[in-house]
Amino acid sequence: MAVSGTMTLALIAHDRKKDDMVRLAGEFATQLARCELMATGTTGRRLQTELGLTVHCYLSGPLGGDLQIGARLAQGEVDAVVFLRDPMTPQPHEPDINALVRACDVHDVPCATNLRGARLLLGALLGPVTL
Ligand code: PGA
Repeated sequence: MAVSGTMTLALIAHDRKKDDMVRLAGEFATQLARCELMATGTTGRRLQTELGLTVHCYLSGPLGGDLQIGARLAQGEVDAVVFLRDPMTPQPHEPDINALVRACDVHDVPCATNLRGARLLLGALLGPVTL
């Protein structure tokens, strides 16, 4: 675990997946509040303003945020990634997206790229949702 016993998670969502991310994070809000969270800029700000989570916001994805998160991950500072990608819309920063997912594979960091996978991953790491 990256920081003494605290789970460090990266949360990223493309524009058409941001509502899903906010809903997902809301389901796990209690558990996520105990984690160190990082996100790309727009995703992170939505999680802060709409859910009140404390999130370290990097640059927006198209401006290099995925690469910033990838650099931390490569240094062993990220325990898991939820990356809700939009498979139907071309992204200007496709190479950066691929670099981050590749870094997850290189360093064997779990990465969920769709909503159901993300629910399974967060449930496994953080425990079940308490309603
Ligand atoms: P954003 O970046 O959270 O700043 O929108 C995500 C992305 O598009 O990669």
